[in-house]
Amino acid sequence: MTGTRESEVGARLADVRRRIGEAADAAGRAGGDVTLVVVTKFFPADDVRLLARLGVTDVGENRHQEAAAKAADCADLDVRWHFIGGLQSNKAAAVTAYADVVESVDRGKLVGPLSRGALEHGRTLDVLLQVSLDPPGTPAGRSGAAPAELPALADRVAGAEGLRLRGLMAVAPLGEEPEAAFARLATVRDTFLREHPDAGWLSAGMSGDFEAAIAVGATHVRVGSAVLGSRPPMK
Ligand SMILES: *Cc1c(COP(=O)(O)O)cnc(C)c1O
Repeated sequence: MTGTRESEVGARLADVRRRIGEAADAAGRAGGDVTLVVVTKFFPADDVRLLARLGVTDVGENRHQEAAAKAADCADLDVRWHFIGGLQSNKAAAVTAYADVVESVDRGKLVGPLSRGALEHGRTLDVLLQVSLDPPGTPAGRSGAAPAELPALADRVAGAEGLRLRGLMAVAPLGEEPEAAFARLATVRDTFLREHPDAGWLSAGMSGDFEAAIAVGATHVRVGSAVLGSRPPMK
C-alpha cells in the first residue's frame, strides 16, 4: 500500500517538477529559481515523510492545529514548514513554534504576536505579506491586504525583531483568468520592490495556475492536489 502511494505521488511529483522547469524555461528563468512548496493540508504525516524521501524540501499547511500536530510528528525531518492559511492573532505566536515561513500576513495586528513568538523560540521567521488580488471594487473576497495597505504593513514587518520580510504571497481569485490577476500582482510587486528590494520572494500559483504564476516571476509555487491527489474530506 505504502509502495503504491509512493510511486503514485512520485510520478505526479516528477510531472509537476517537469512542468515547473518548462514554465521557467519559457519565462527565460532557471528552474532552480522556483521552489516547490507541496501543500500537505488534510494529508497525513506519513505523506510528509514520503515527500521528504522524494526530495521535497518545503511543505505548506493552512490550519494551525493540524500543522502543529504534523510538524511535531515530523520533527526529525529536514523540511521547511510554510504556514499559508488565515491567521487569528491569538494563534499567531503559536505558529512560530514550528513554522519557518509565514506566508499569510495580511494585517498589522499579526506582527506583534509573530515577533514575540519568533523571539521566544529563538528563531528568525521568514514573512510574506499576502496581498489581495480581488479586482478593485469587489466586495467580500479572499483574505489579503489591499495593495494600498502594503507599504505600512511592510514597514511594520521590516521593523519587527525576529521577523525577516521576504516578499509577497497571493492567491488568484475565482471567476477570473489567473493571467489577469497575476498581471496585477506583477505590478503590485514592482512597486513593492522599489521600497524593499531585498524582499524578492513571490509565492503564487497552485495546482491549476502555477505555470501562469511562474510566467510573472513566482519564486515559490504552492501545489497540493497535483502532487498528492484529491484531498480527503475534511474531518
Ligand atoms: C490549498 C492551498 C493551495 C494548494 O491548492 P491546490 O489547488 O491543491 O494545489 C495553495 N495555496 C493555498 C493558500 C491553499 O490554501
